[in-house]
Amino acid sequence: MSQALPGDTPLIHDLIGIGFGPSNVAMAIALSEHNARVGRHEAVTAHFFERQPGFGWHRGMLIDDATMQVSFMKDLVTLRNPTSEYSFLCYLQSRGRLIDFVNHKNLFPLRVEFHDYFEWAAAKVDDMVSYGHQVVAVEPVVRDGVVEYLDVTARSGDEVVVHRARNVVIGTGLRPVMPEGIERTDHVWHNSDLLAKVDGLEGAEPTRFVVVGAGQSAAENVAYLHRRFPDAEVCAVFSRYGYSPADDSSFANRIFDPQAVDEYFTAPEDVKHRLMDYHGNTNYSVVDIDLIDDLYRQAYQEKVLGTERLHFLNVSRLTAVEETPDGVRATVTSLITGEERLLDADVVVCATGYMQADGLGLLGEVADRCHRDDRGRVRVERDYRVATDPELRCGIYLQGGTEHTHGITSSLLSNTAIRVGEILDSILDRGLERSPGSAQAVPEGAESAVR
Ligand SMILES: Cc1cc2nc3c(=O)[nH]c(=O)nc-3n(C[C@H](O)[C@H](O)[C@H](O)COP(=O)(O)OP(=O)(O)OC[C@H]3O[C@@H](n4cnc5c(N)ncnc54)[C@H](O)[C@@H]3O)c2cc1C
Repeated sequence: MSQALPGDTPLIHDLIGIGFGPSNVAMAIALSEHNARVGRHEAVTAHFFERQPGFGWHRGMLIDDATMQVSFMKDLVTLRNPTSEYSFLCYLQSRGRLIDFVNHKNLFPLRVEFHDYFEWAAAKVDDMVSYGHQVVAVEPVVRDGVVEYLDVTARSGDEVVVHRARNVVIGTGLRPVMPEGIERTDHVWHNSDLLAKVDGLEGAEPTRFVVVGAGQSAAENVAYLHRRFPDAEVCAVFSRYGYSPADDSSFANRIFDPQAVDEYFTAPEDVKHRLMDYHGNTNYSVVDIDLIDDLYRQAYQEKVLGTERLHFLNVSRLTAVEETPDGVRATVTSLITGEERLLDADVVVCATGYMQADGLGLLGEVADRCHRDDRGRVRVERDYRVATDPELRCGIYLQGGTEHTHGITSSLLSNTAIRVGEILDSILDRGLERSPGSAQAVPEGAESAVR
């Protein structure tokens, strides 16, 4: 990590990344590969802050048999640089599993395996990251009416550090969403906490789980809880008639192509809507067909054997939860008849999705200089740079939160390798200001608007 200069003057980085999930790990790798190619003077200086104590990718959902929803070739680098030493194949070789993976004839690794790959790749660039540092503010550094730098404040326990940047890349990911009016408690979870919480039930002999939702995570939760607690009932609650399969057919899959980003970006607004309507079922509220088949097979077998533990309450909604001395009472309302059913359960798991946090949420008054469209959405250029007032000279780049401009890959892994290359090119094309040394002291006269 860069040290502050004497007098607490922060070093200036060409780029500060907020969050160190796959998007910004890929960014760090792209920078590292660029820096290895060019002379020291053209090297891009960068630092990243991650609030977790170490690398972690949706740890609460690392169910042991869950697989990736994307080909291993859409790893952190391959589509940008197929010869990269940071690829999933290089990872496999380093783990001694390359030939075993090939024999497996499978494009979709286990999620735990891809997590291990991400961790391996993140460790190779960890000189650029401060873990355990939550970014709490981004503030403008103004000189002669121009915002020349952004000061990024990160908190780690009682320690506060401030680093200065010419460009900020925000990759802060998704936020879990609960059903309206329902809070998380010891007995009401979001699926993102599944594995962190479930061990606490060992020895408690739970008798019933309610799982709300009809997407991939919901179906995985149903299957997992059913398998892990062989004496418990699992009640799946969703408003659909049944789980719908994810469309992963080849033509539809092209919606995740780099070229689709170009096309989506330039498409008229009504065509953008139409594309999301047509192809939302490649990603949203859909389930892998194999998992649907497994759940149905299981439910039918239980019916035949007269040992039913799997129940599907379709066309229904969770309308209330109430804590009881032993757990929780869920009210499930039929959308057809309005009839209410009360289910006493040990746990209600809400697999009710995620939303992208507003990328500008951390920016404070800097956000006032960022442009929004007439629907209040952030205006983002093709190079993922937020459109801003001309007085804001710094680049603010978004990794995520750009579905309205760049399409469905915004929060996914499919296009990450390409996206970070495009962000790096954008920063390089705009030129790296250089006085001697790449990470420099603040020039005379620069003053922070906030201190
Ligand atoms: C269970 C699950 C499975 C998925 N599987 C797939 C899949 O198979 N294929 C696919 O394409 N997509 C998948 N996704 C979509 C997912 O969004 C991407 O896989 C990926 O996580 C996007 O990476 P990211 O770095 O943008 O965001 P994240 O992975 O969410 O990382 C963001 C990081 O920012 C950190 N952070 C947030 N705020 C701050 C702050 N203020 N200061 C410092 N750090 C901060 C967070 O701690 C986190 O580590 C899945 C999502 C989930 C929930």
